Amino acid sequence: MIDFHKLKNILSGNNSFMLTTHVNPDADAIGSEIALCELLKSLGKKVCVVNHSSTPYNLEFLDDEKVIEKYEKQKHNEIMNSVDVLIGLDFNNSDRIVSMREEFLKSIKTKIIIDHHQDNEEFVNHYFADTDYCSTGHIIYEFIKQTSIVELTYSIAYPLYAAIMTDTGSFRFERTTPEIHKIAAELLSIGVNPTEVFDKIYDQSKFSKIKLLGKALESLQLYGDKKEISYMVLNREEFNSLNALESDTDSFVNFSLSVEGVKLGILFIQLNEGFKVSLRSKGNIPVNKLAAEFGGGGHTNASGIRIFNGKMEDFIPKILFKAKEYLERN
Ligand code: 5GP
Ligand code: MN
Repeated sequence: MIDFHKLKNILSGNNSFMLTTHVNPDADAIGSEIALCELLKSLGKKVCVVNHSSTPYNLEFLDDEKVIEKYEKQKHNEIMNSVDVLIGLDFNNSDRIVSMREEFLKSIKTKIIIDHHQDNEEFVNHYFADTDYCSTGHIIYEFIKQTSIVELTYSIAYPLYAAIMTDTGSFRFERTTPEIHKIAAELLSIGVNPTEVFDKIYDQSKFSKIKLLGKALESLQLYGDKKEISYMVLNREEFNSLNALESDTDSFVNFSLSVEGVKLGILFIQLNEGFKVSLRSKGNIPVNKLAAEFGGGGHTNASGIRIFNGKMEDFIPKILFKAKEYLERN
């Protein structure tokens, strides 16, 4: 149970805030930042939003006032040590803020996390976290409803709808409850246009992204005796030849679960620095635990790993082998 009353006291009782979120932010990350930023501004607070990553191009529409800044050591370390409260949204492990981690940990200001992931690292003063929520946006919605701290206006409802829609896989993942549909209905009744939000996030892709998806699908392989694991691999050359970005790969991994009989899907992505692994599962196969064995984390059915020291080609067989063990065990 999240202590919303305590969160309200922290927000009401302080004057300046810096919000941040995880590397390669998704619509829950950006939507939650924008909604909370709007909330704080309507309380008359000073607020800035600073992220390790630039906002992916398909999410820029959520930040129409261009409040989100990309972290620069010189400029933002001073802010990190002068605002009253630092708020981390949609992550619970300090590795997830990459270049901002060191200064964030060092700052002696009040630090809080609002999040819905499992297995948090203890690195802030207050956690407002619960894995029962489908998204961080859902937590912010509930906070507003339970405390009436501000009115749920269109400019808050819009980014919250984007957060909830995307983190429920467009209302199909397990935590898509009747309650979530009621919340979505309320957000629509405030004026959010669901066709527009979906189109902007998913159907305005750069040509290079769809071509990259083609390369990922071409690499699809089945693995294991019962062929219940499928995986895809994207190498650097493929990115470079298409001028594609890491964020272009978001949601590609879901295709691996679309194959008949597959229960665990993996996407390996070589980055400029190191590589990334996205894991997805059906049922109760805990891919967050599988990810944790390699230093990653996430949710039961959706997790990730980022590895900076080590070669992707060496890790692929190791991770596949472990994945097989998890399937046999569950
Ligand atoms: P994605 O595959 O979409 O990048 O990530 C899926 C989920 O896994 C997200 O909820 C994200 O929070 C989590 N995740 C992805 N990469 C990492 C990682 O390197 N470390 C941790 N702890 N979690 C991750
Ligand atoms: Mn989320």
